[in-house]
Amino acid sequence: MISRFERGSSSDAGSWALYFASLGIRVAPAFEVDHQGRCGCLNSACLRPGKHPLFQEDWSTASTDTAQIKSWWRRRPSANLLVQTGSRSKLLVIDADTRAGGIRSLEALQERFCELRNSFLVRSGSGGRHVYLHTSRRWRSGTDSVCSGIDVRGEGGYVIGPGSHHFSGVRYTAESLRPILPVGAELESHLRQIGVGGPVSQKNARTRKEPPDRPAETALGNRSPALIDELGKPIPPVRR
Ligand SMILES: [Zn+2]
Repeated sequence: MISRFERGSSSDAGSWALYFASLGIRVAPAFEVDHQGRCGCLNSACLRPGKHPLFQEDWSTASTDTAQIKSWWRRRPSANLLVQTGSRSKLLVIDADTRAGGIRSLEALQERFCELRNSFLVRSGSGGRHVYLHTSRRWRSGTDSVCSGIDVRGEGGYVIGPGSHHFSGVRYTAESLRPILPVGAELESHLRQIGVGGPVSQKNARTRKEPPDRPAETALGNRSPALIDELGKPIPPVRR
């Protein structure tokens, strides 16, 4: 699949969607932003411009189905890419933000854990870094849960993928076409030690009623959230 990109024809969000799907990672279209940074949802008070799913009423439709994905991007070629994290995609993303020293903290972690150095990495539109890791375990999503400035995107979460446009106008770009490496034993042990909260047990993750301290896996399947953030938490609607 990688050769599709090496041939150089396309690096847009729709092509990346097909690439991730080929790896078993579930994707969905998200609203795009226009050249002035306005969200395609046309809500002038949108809190997540370019960062929320196109199908707000049922974005559990995130898929690995090639025909479905092609159809989505044929209908909306400018759509941003939503990459679903968690056990459904066997994907954990370590999300280093530019705030609170997140990038420096990530660099320190990269010295300790080789998979954080060598795995597939996306530079986000805001200058942050998303390190993609393969996992067969369930990890809780959380803000600042690794350390200040570093979030975990696991169960119920998502990241905006490469080829997407940030409201600043900057594109999310993959730094290279590295493979997505598995979470190694040392990193897993570290994440457990610092109380990231995962791995989430199979039993708890399947419980429909979620404890308040963790985002609901079922948030992906909720019918009515107006907006969902990257941790899978509903964002209250803004009165206009
Ligand atoms: Zn919006």
